Amino acid sequence: MKYHLITFGCQMNKSDSERIATVLENIGYKETSKINEADLIIVNMCSVRQKAVDRVYGMIKNFNRIKKQNPNLKIILTGCVLLKDKNKFKKWFDLIFDIKDLPKLTKFLTKQQNKQTDDYLSILPAISSPITAYVPIMTGCNNFCAYCVVPYTRGREISRSPKIIIAEIKKLLKDGYKEIILLGQNVNSYQKDDVNFSQLLKMVDNLQGKFWLRFITNHPKDLTDELINTIAECKKVGPYMHLPIQAGNDQILKKMNRHYTVSYYKNLIKKLRKKIQNLSISTDIIVGFPGETKNQFNDTAKLMRSIKFDMAYLAQYSPRPQTLAAKTFKDNVPKEEKKQREEILNEILKKTALKNNEKYIGKIIEVLIIGYDKKNNLYGVTDTFKHILVKFGQKKLPIKIGNFYNVKITQVASWGLEGCFQLLSFRKQ
Ligand code: SF4
Repeated sequence: MKYHLITFGCQMNKSDSERIATVLENIGYKETSKINEADLIIVNMCSVRQKAVDRVYGMIKNFNRIKKQNPNLKIILTGCVLLKDKNKFKKWFDLIFDIKDLPKLTKFLTKQQNKQTDDYLSILPAISSPITAYVPIMTGCNNFCAYCVVPYTRGREISRSPKIIIAEIKKLLKDGYKEIILLGQNVNSYQKDDVNFSQLLKMVDNLQGKFWLRFITNHPKDLTDELINTIAECKKVGPYMHLPIQAGNDQILKKMNRHYTVSYYKNLIKKLRKKIQNLSISTDIIVGFPGETKNQFNDTAKLMRSIKFDMAYLAQYSPRPQTLAAKTFKDNVPKEEKKQREEILNEILKKTALKNNEKYIGKIIEVLIIGYDKKNNLYGVTDTFKHILVKFGQKKLPIKIGNFYNVKITQVASWGLEGCFQLLSFRKQ
């Protein structure tokens, strides 16, 4: 029996797909990349943007065609699905289930109960990379930002037990993983068994072995001084922080229900930069939120110029069903205007990212080698979460994917670095 798994959306969805793969493989399914060969098609969808929902609608015609050729084919939908879409989709899918009900998938497919666990996050994922492992530490969200569907699709925050998280990471390290990324909709509000996120980070940081530790995503209102000090002290946490600002104007932030102001955010960045040398910062920004005037947008552009982000994930606002913004405000910024605003921010980002990257030229830095790109070049990642192409110098050296090497930076662009291996880095690892 073969399954074809289609995933889109955030890193959390990708991590969930690795758990779906485990459940299917435990009951004898093998993955196929060819949809026509599949006995089971499973779509792990995202509802954060309407575009992603429309993609699922776009796939249905193809699914129906394949089902005509193979009447035994089962088509299943999971992930972040809004109630309204569940009702519309149900006539085309054999099963729609909430991701937290993943253990019940076994029963649907085999009529037998999953004997291992009822907690879907405890299902060990079939991790697709041999180097980087995503470890969910919490799921769901209590924040109800006005534009966001997550609290409606994933429900309220649930944190996993620190004991289980540590045991899972110990096993990953034993299996040779070198980059551990702690995942959650808002990792800063992690709290379980009297352990907060700062304490959990220290516990992971104290584990034996050479590895890098990252975490996504953060909420400015929950980034405490205790956590900033911990990040600065932890040896395995690199100088990288993803801190979504969403807008650079206080009135818009208030309408978004974000619970912080621009000056509070700027102050956080100041504290982080003071404590953590060479910090690289990324963010999320939404342009064209309902009622966003030109002046209010200009405040966001101004903030971007002043913070000088290394990366920003930009999105044009689109109303999402059930959310406060969709129910309360008119989506009144024209599409063309949203596009222009996004382009303006992208131009600012290109410049600040390039300027930040130029500081790397001539420096020797540590790089984790991840693999080969499509052109057969080796690529990796820095502790500041920058992507890097690495070339051999005059001598071809034996490189092992998943090892750390010293690399001299020779060229930079806005979205990445390029460098050469340094002989000295060929020590035993
Ligand atoms: S913090 Fe806001 S944007 Fe992030 S998942 Fe929660 S509601 Fe959505």
